[in-house]
Formats: sequence, C-alpha cells, structure tokens
Amino acid sequence: MNWDQPAPELASGGRPNVAGACREALKALVAGLGEKPFRAAQLFEGLYVHRWTRWDQFSTLSKALRERLEAEVDLAWPAIQESRTAEDGATKHAFLLGDGQQVEGVHMPYADRTTLCISSQVGCAMGCTFCATGQMGIRRNLSAAEIVGQVVVMLNQHRHPEGRPVNLVFMGMGEPLHNLAQVMGAFEILTDPKGLAIPPRRITLSTSGLVPGIRRLGSYERRPRLAVSLNATTDAYRDRIMPVNRAWNLAALAEALRAFPLAKGERITLEYVLLRGVTDSREDADRLAAYARALPSKVNLIPFNEHEGAGYQAPEEGTLDLFCRILTQSGVAVMIRRSRGQEVGGACGQLVKREPELEGSKD
Ligand code: SAH
Ligand code: SF4
Repeated sequence: MNWDQPAPELASGGRPNVAGACREALKALVAGLGEKPFRAAQLFEGLYVHRWTRWDQFSTLSKALRERLEAEVDLAWPAIQESRTAEDGATKHAFLLGDGQQVEGVHMPYADRTTLCISSQVGCAMGCTFCATGQMGIRRNLSAAEIVGQVVVMLNQHRHPEGRPVNLVFMGMGEPLHNLAQVMGAFEILTDPKGLAIPPRRITLSTSGLVPGIRRLGSYERRPRLAVSLNATTDAYRDRIMPVNRAWNLAALAEALRAFPLAKGERITLEYVLLRGVTDSREDADRLAAYARALPSKVNLIPFNEHEGAGYQAPEEGTLDLFCRILTQSGVAVMIRRSRGQEVGGACGQLVKREPELEGSKD
C-alpha cells in the first residue's frame, strides 16, 4: 500500500476508526459524511494537537456533528494491556491491537526530553540470533495508524506536557525497512507541524542493514535519521548472528551507508551490541573503529541484555570501557547505551510477548 493512501482501517469498509488516521483519510471521511472540508483539519488537530480520546472532547465541532461521529465513527486507540515501570523510570507498555495481536513500546523520561521506543511490526522476519523479537518470527506489519497510536497513547498515559521535546526511535519490535510504506506514513503524521509536530531530526529509524531499504529511505526528501545495527565486525560472525549479512555483507552495507544522503552535521548511528566472547574482542574494537571511521558515523555501544533462552551473555564491564577507549582514540564519537528498563524486559531486543509474565504480574 502506498503510504499516502488512507489507513487500512478507514479504507476497509465497515465502521471507520479515525485514531491514527492521516489527513487524506480524514478528508475522505468528512467528504463521505457530507461535511465541509475544514472539518478534516479540525479532526486532525483534535487527534494530534490535543490528543483527544473521546468524541465529547472535540469541542471545536458542533454538538450535532459530535453526536453523529459518536454514532458512526470509532475513535479507538491501541489499548494498553499491561505497563511496567523500571527503577530508572522507563515504562514498558504492551499494546493490544484491533486483531488481538500485541506490540510493545517503551516510555523513557529524561530531564529535558522524553524518548519513546516504538514498534513497526508484530515480531520480525530478520531472525537475529541474539534478539528475542527475532526468535518469535514475523506475524504482520503494523499500519501507520497503529504506529502513530503507540506514540499518542504513551504521551497521554504519561501526561506529556506541551512543549517538552519528544525523541522517537524505531527500536521496538520489527525491522522498519520491511514496512517502510507504513513507517513513512506514520512519519508524515508524527512530523506534521499542525499535529504532534515532532521534528524529523528527532526521529530515528534503526535497521539491521537491509541495503535496498536503506536506498529507498534515502530517496525520501523528508525522512528520519538512520541507525544501523552493526553488531559484528567480520562477515563470518555477522553471517552467524544476523542472517541479513548473508545477502548484504559488511562491504555492501558500508557502500549503501556512504551513498546515504545526510544533512549538514548529520551522522549515521552504528549500534554495536557486545556479546561476551563472540563480538567483544580487542580486534573487534579495532575493526569497529576502522569501519566507523570510514563513514560519517557515531557509535552506540550496547551491552547485551540477557533474556531467556538467548544463549549469549553480557560483556564484562571492563570490555565496554576498552571498546570506548579504542574508538575514542581513533577519533570515533562513541556513547555507551545502557538499555533502560532492563529489569522489566523493556530493553532493546527483549520486546517479545511472554504471555505468562505479562498476564501474571502487575506493578
Ligand atoms: N530491527 C531494528 C530495530 C529494532 S532492534 C534493528 O535491528 O536495528 C533495536 C536494537 O536492539 C538493535 O540495535 C539490536 O541490535 C538491539 N538488540 C536486539 N537484541 C538485543 C539484546 N538482547 N540486547 C541488546 N541489544 C539488543
Ligand atoms: Fe529484527 Fe532488529 Fe531483532 Fe534483528 S535485532 S531480529 S532486525 S528486531
């Protein structure tokens, strides 16, 4: 589906649902109801500036129209099924979608901003061996509306104050470049200056390294920033832990990254998960430094989050420091990213539906 087409909920007949809808879908809806076109802009503002969740809140509309919408049109955001907050303040939310599937998102409050980690698919087809989501396989793509829904629901749930910056990372479940049309549809809604108005530079799409998808993303004039999960420094090891490497190896990936258009001062983030005894040797650090130096990039080092059945271990503390030193000495900008929300299973790569746990415990 083309990303600027109406969201599937609105296009599929039956009772329409406006939650997460794009401008075009709202225009079509309003026209179908025989209402004036400016009503679509009022709906868009109610949904994304005010983040209203009930028709009776739409005070900009006439009472008669509100009643008609109440009778004929749904306003159903994804439902939060379970929320768990870690000691560091990160909250993992499990969202229940219209068809009973679940995805997860994480809300991370910082002193000067809020970062939201959101999902693009139910599951993931990429099969990375260290990743809990990868192990569940792919169930389906999310619609643009479902992607936007995670953002609106988390902002409402945490009473996000007006004016506080929001950073968005597509680092929840899924490979966003496998669902680029809907991800870009969501991007358009999320960045709309008359809506949530999240600046494009505050949105980051993280990919496992799908080269054709990287090229396609680069062809959009307005687009999110790019992060790539590198995670290994030799094809032999990357083949083993990230099957995508067998189709597009490290050299092919570097070529695609070099060709990726960047704004002035913009850099590509290389994410590197350290797996003890697998990808955390001194030689790895040297090769990572060389790979990063050859690109306009910065590196995020992520200690592996252990999860059930993973078969990998987190690196030793000293290893992270060593990597950090070697990269810094090579002139590479580097950050250590300790995943927030680790103890609630909300950290990178732990976003997988674990039913007994989700149903069995409440904070
Ligand atoms: N599919 C996309 C985005 C989601 S994964 C991608 O792979 O980039 C987000 C990040 O979490 C990736 O960098 C991935 O390498 C990392 N990750 C996956 N499992 C992890 C784990 N168990 N511990 C730490 N990071 C993990
Ligand atoms: Fe999918 Fe990313 Fe997990 Fe790989 S690391 S399986 S691409 S979610």
